[in-house]
Amino acid sequence: MTYQNQILARLTDNERGRIQPHLSIVRLERGERLSEPQSKISKVYFPHSGVFSFVVELPGGGAVETAIVGNDGVFGAAQALNDQVSLNSVLVQMSGEASVIDLYRLRDLALELPGLRKALTGYEVFLFGQAQQTGACNAVHRVRERICKWLARMQDIAGDELPLTQEFLAQMMGVRRTSVGEVAQTLQRDGMLEYSRGTIRIKDGKKLRDNACDCYADVAGHYKVIIGDDPLET
Ligand SMILES: [Zn+2]
Repeated sequence: MTYQNQILARLTDNERGRIQPHLSIVRLERGERLSEPQSKISKVYFPHSGVFSFVVELPGGGAVETAIVGNDGVFGAAQALNDQVSLNSVLVQMSGEASVIDLYRLRDLALELPGLRKALTGYEVFLFGQAQQTGACNAVHRVRERICKWLARMQDIAGDELPLTQEFLAQMMGVRRTSVGEVAQTLQRDGMLEYSRGTIRIKDGKKLRDNACDCYADVAGHYKVIIGDDPLET
C-alpha cells in the first residue's frame, strides 16, 4: 500500500511491513476531539488527509492554536513512546482520513524498530519547534503576515481549497474577527485568495509566501532538517 502520510511513507519496506497489519483507516470529521488536556490517549493517528490542530483552551472561552498536523506528521507519538498523557487539546480542524494504531502496539513496535522510533521522536522534536515558533510569532509578528504564514502552511498540507470560516481562523490565531476580515479583504483584493461561503480558495500561493512572516520558511526548514524531503514528491 502507498501511504499518503509522510511519516509512514518514509519507513523502510521492512518497517512498513511490520506496522501495516496493525493499522486501520478511519475517517475523522471536523470538530472531533482526539484528546482532552492532560488525558490519556489510546490511539495514535497518522493523517493521510485533513488537518489536526493542537490548541490551548483558555479559561473564559476561546482556544488558540499552537501547532498543525497534517499528512506530514502524526499525533500521539510522544505518548506512545513514554506512556504519558497528552497535554493539549487536539481537534480535527479539517475532515480527512488517517491510519490509526493502538498506542501500546505502536510502543512495542518502536522498541523493536529503531527506524520507526527515530521517525516518531524526530516528528515530536519538530512539533515542539513548531509550537515554539508559534509562540514567538503570535508575540511579535503582524496579523497580516501571520495569516499569510498560516494559509501557506495549510496549503502545503491540505491543498488549495480550505473549508474554513473567518471566525474559526480568528479564534485559532487569537485575533479579533474584524482584523481577520480586514486582512482577508486585502488578500482577496491582491489576488492571493478568494473567500466565499465558508471556503478559502488559495489563488496565488507564491505571493502568499512572499507576504508571510519568516516563520513559514523557518518551520518548513525545521521539518526538512529533522525529517527530510517529502518522499511523496520525489
Ligand atoms: Zn511569524
